[in-house]
Amino acid sequence: MLQKLFKRGLGFCLMLVFLLSGCESIAPQQYPFVYSGPIMGTSFSIKASHIPEQVNLENLQQLILVRLQAINQRMSTYLKDSELSLLNILPSTEPQIISDELYTVLDAAQNISQLSAGAFDITVGPLVNLWGFGPDIMLSEAPKPEAIKQLLAQSGYAKLQLNNQDLTVTKTLASLSMDLSGLAKGYAVDQVAKVLEEQGIKDYLVEIGGEIRLKGNNLQGKKWRIAIEKPTINKRELEKVIAITDIAMATSGDYRNFFEQDGQRFSHTIDPRTGYPITHKLASVTVLTETCMLADAWATALMVLGPEAAYNVAEQQQLAVFFIIKTAQGFVERATPLFTDYTKVKQ
Ligand code: ADP
Ligand code: MG
Repeated sequence: MLQKLFKRGLGFCLMLVFLLSGCESIAPQQYPFVYSGPIMGTSFSIKASHIPEQVNLENLQQLILVRLQAINQRMSTYLKDSELSLLNILPSTEPQIISDELYTVLDAAQNISQLSAGAFDITVGPLVNLWGFGPDIMLSEAPKPEAIKQLLAQSGYAKLQLNNQDLTVTKTLASLSMDLSGLAKGYAVDQVAKVLEEQGIKDYLVEIGGEIRLKGNNLQGKKWRIAIEKPTINKRELEKVIAITDIAMATSGDYRNFFEQDGQRFSHTIDPRTGYPITHKLASVTVLTETCMLADAWATALMVLGPEAAYNVAEQQQLAVFFIIKTAQGFVERATPLFTDYTKVKQ
């Protein structure tokens, strides 16, 4: 019997916000700027500890919301008229001129695909849908192997070509369809951070669906205290609280968005090499890096690679990563040296 255990991004995000505020001993309403709301099928949450006098808070909210909505309108696979959705349905193998913004994110995605030997691959869009993790209707059972095989043959990041001279993108297969859900939230976090900085704000926390960017200090004048969740399904507990700042953080896991069939868990992270959801023992990956877009993409890429390969790639790429691995004895933690360095100083 198929047991549906979908927990979509919103639940995860609300929990993370709860955890975040739980980690800060100051009530969120004491922050001079707190703003949250729904976006990208999940929610955003922003806090700033200090606001320059000239900043009008209502205008600031408006600037942020307009920016978020514009990004969604470019990159969502849920909005049928987004720039990405229109490119996806275009039955053409001709070069297409796209916005600078969409180009930037597609280019970053392709870069991570190369660095991760194809573990990150935005052309898995049709497979994500086939497995019921896209905008289409959820599944009542796992898809047929033939259907997976067919879509797998029609995907592959090398089938998407970018030209940085004229900012065009070419689908070398007309049916190619891209899914930016693995890094668009991170990009949006970076863009909200940019809006805040343009207003002279230097102490903030920006979070969308669990992907975070931090700058300066919290209201207590200390580094931000951020929780990493234990990758358990029914209970929500903390694995670890870290004090960090001037950095972005993203977590990928197999424990929030999945379904189970006959005791097997099918996660929303698809292995582009097989067309099947990941099945290894890696339960959660947290990446700290300069931009949230890269943290987000790397978290998904490392999640695909599995515990051993992911650790090796993380070390080779000089990434600060924290892994939680399932074993018969329970969860085991592993961190790259850079993650330990970033997090060892408490304040
Ligand atoms: P997580 O926080 O678990 O990484 P994200 O929302 O960042 O979740 O990314 C997962 C989403 O990325 C999936 O829902 C799917 O749309 C897309 N995706 C799944 N597998 C891959 C992959 N191998 N490469 C790129 N994107 C993927
Ligand atoms: Mg991601």
